[in-house]
Amino acid sequence: MKASEGFSALNMPENRIENPDKPREECGIFGIYGNNLDVARITYYGLYALQHRGQESAGIAVSDGNRVNLHKGMGLVPEVFSKEQLDTMKGHIAIGHVRYSTTGSSHPLNAQPLVFRYARGTLGLAHNGNITNIWDLRSQLTSTGSVFQSTTDSEVIVNLIARYSQNTLEEALSKCMIDVKGAYSLLIITENSLIAVRDPYGFRPLCLGKLGDGYVVASESCALDTVGATKLRDVEPGEIIIIDEKGVRSIRALSSRKKAHCIFEYIYFARPDSDMDGFQVSRVRREMGRQLAREFPADVDLVIAVPDSGTTAARGYAEESGISFEEGLMKNRYIGRTFIQPSQDMREMGVRLKLNPLKHILEGKRVLMVDDSLVRGTTSSKIVKMLRECGAREVYLCLSSPPVIKSCYYGIDTSNESELVASQMSVNQIKDLIGVDGLYYLSLEGLLNVFGDCRENFCTACFNGDYPVKIPKLGDSSKYMLEW
Ligand code: SF4
Repeated sequence: MKASEGFSALNMPENRIENPDKPREECGIFGIYGNNLDVARITYYGLYALQHRGQESAGIAVSDGNRVNLHKGMGLVPEVFSKEQLDTMKGHIAIGHVRYSTTGSSHPLNAQPLVFRYARGTLGLAHNGNITNIWDLRSQLTSTGSVFQSTTDSEVIVNLIARYSQNTLEEALSKCMIDVKGAYSLLIITENSLIAVRDPYGFRPLCLGKLGDGYVVASESCALDTVGATKLRDVEPGEIIIIDEKGVRSIRALSSRKKAHCIFEYIYFARPDSDMDGFQVSRVRREMGRQLAREFPADVDLVIAVPDSGTTAARGYAEESGISFEEGLMKNRYIGRTFIQPSQDMREMGVRLKLNPLKHILEGKRVLMVDDSLVRGTTSSKIVKMLRECGAREVYLCLSSPPVIKSCYYGIDTSNESELVASQMSVNQIKDLIGVDGLYYLSLEGLLNVFGDCRENFCTACFNGDYPVKIPKLGDSSKYMLEW
């Protein structure tokens, strides 16, 4: 295949409107237990801070000790919740969820939290991650009488918990953790407790904080900061944390033989002001940029970033290389989920609406542009074309991640392998496709070096196919489940 062929024909899911070249985080979760706190409003603000992790639906479940009140819907957090709605949600425990769908399509029934009644009362669940043996579990449950309302794997977890209802909830969860394989950070609400669960590999982040006399659990520490909570620690892989009137208890339900935190959280997904599993995200990104400069010292006039995803790494590159960093592309910050994709003959305008190059900075210059990753390459080629039209003499693209060659089965939508440009083309072919004078990827070794002694604690499967948990075979994967 020629470098310029093939990729233009790819089917682009309509929900990839904001940036079709980026993988999508699936979900963000937030929970709070605290007397004398407006838990619904605090959860609303916590979800606001996690909005980057999912923009298709949002939901909050609140317990007042007797009943669990749920409200959820399609859209961004402020679209789903009004002041009046939040005023009706009284209680001392809450969990919330923002979602971008991969497992289960974009449908109101798949919005979370999911709230069920079972033998021991009411139970609500918010889930971030992907269960890899979901198809097997779902078949087993269906064959013994379970009925499903949604296509989410979260509902399978709820059904499993219900199956173990002869046990205490803590015991039931411990048993579920043996059955369920893959990536899950969970928040569970009952009438009287908030429970946090993290899978034994710790794929998706989850942290615990303190707010007054109460406790907060969130996907990222930026949500704790937003609501004024202090981070206590990360939830450990394989751990269950129960928060109720007796205080906080921890159960090591499964031992963690190998940690496999998603390294893409640090490259792209997580907010730069979060810290997770011992690393501050913006520092890691800056160090990735420094490492890039050591691996690919370039003879250029200036370093620019694709904002905002490449900005921190670009600054790191500039610091290490001594080449000046300039804002060569200006981002329109008001393009959101409801942005209407321009028609085919207006495609160029689509990128220009989001990014505008600064001609007086770029004209006549040799430019090195830094971005975090390249999934399809379609947006990058349009940006490069804009830079050249503004008079950039040479354009080089540096990526602060290795080539993405494999799909993710653990809660990130990286597209199918056939849609990943680096899986289908050589670096030289991609360079021609994008139209740059040079294309450089951070090496996997260089990426892992950023984490020093902790380098073994990360999942890198989308770069090298080294999947920490067995992935489903084509045909029985959660990726191929029946869609609504
Ligand atoms: Fe993260 Fe990639 Fe592993 Fe998925 S495969 S969990 S995106 S590192």
